[in-house]
Amino acid sequence: LAKGNGRNKFRFYNSELNEIMVRKMKIDSELRKAIDNNEFHLVYQPKINLQSREIIGMEALLRWDSTELGSVSPVEFISIAEETGQIVAIGEWVLETACKQNKRWQEEGFPLLCVSVNVSVPQFQQNAFLETVKGVLQNTGLEPQFLELEITESVMQNKAESTELLRGLRKIGVKTSIDDFGTGYSSLNILRELPIDTIKIDKSFIDGILDSASESMIKTIMDIGLNLNLEVIAEGIEYECQVEMLEKYNCRFGQGYLFLKPTDRAGFERYLETYTAQTSLN
Ligand code: C2E
Ligand code: MG
Ligand code: MG
Ligand code: MG
Repeated sequence: LAKGNGRNKFRFYNSELNEIMVRKMKIDSELRKAIDNNEFHLVYQPKINLQSREIIGMEALLRWDSTELGSVSPVEFISIAEETGQIVAIGEWVLETACKQNKRWQEEGFPLLCVSVNVSVPQFQQNAFLETVKGVLQNTGLEPQFLELEITESVMQNKAESTELLRGLRKIGVKTSIDDFGTGYSSLNILRELPIDTIKIDKSFIDGILDSASESMIKTIMDIGLNLNLEVIAEGIEYECQVEMLEKYNCRFGQGYLFLKPTDRAGFERYLETYTAQTSLN
């Protein structure tokens, strides 16, 4: 009996593994058609000054509504696209679309804001990445100070190349931030030498904000920001009590469902309009 169970168990794992493989291959092949089929769009989430509650910028996040698979989370398809290298073309689409949209909003009279775009490691490590960014800025007419690139701590593993690229970005006036800060491989020594502007406290520390481990992590990250002269922003804020805690440690900026969930172009425009109407009353 035990033997039989064992065999079934093995078969179970085997078929589960098989299902994962099939899903991955399906996503990979559907992704190859996604740009041409117009299956991607961007949603936007505001970055907020925690004290004044004014909008200071927005992050563009990719959404995929696949004709075959329905809506697929970026958490699932981005990692597959990174493995296969498709992220390079997809990332360029995101960059171009976000810059074009931001430029259009500026021309339409919305407040001048910086748009943040997530950049994956394989994109960042491409030789031509700096040229790609320059090209997109030129094509869209967006001034460089209105673009920020969010990268992850893993770029530190390639210190020399990353530093050079970050210098190049700074030289052309594009801002950079380290996303999900505190979750990855980070050496303070390397961080000290990287020409970046902002670190983003990962949501996991904000979720657990009422436990002492998360609180001391926030305190530590704020100290790092202060010492290295970096701006700090918190992601994933859902409750006012989290804002209070962040303000206690002088964190000035934040992002999260408390302010607005990532919203499509039309929804974000309505948000900007309300926001503009409010500030002109003051
Ligand atoms: P991220 O860059 O750290 O983005 C934050 C994620 O947290 C987003 O999930 C956002 O929708 C979600 N979020 C924001 N505020 C809250 C909140 O208050 N509560 C909760 N529960 N969630 C919140 P999303 O859009 O599913 O994206 C997940 C990840 O996928 C991103 O994490 C980023 O790493 C990656 N991603 C998304 N779009 C792109 C893209 O265009 N390019 C690349 N390379 N990666 C992307
Ligand atoms: Mg991000
Ligand atoms: Mg993040
Ligand atoms: Mg995160």
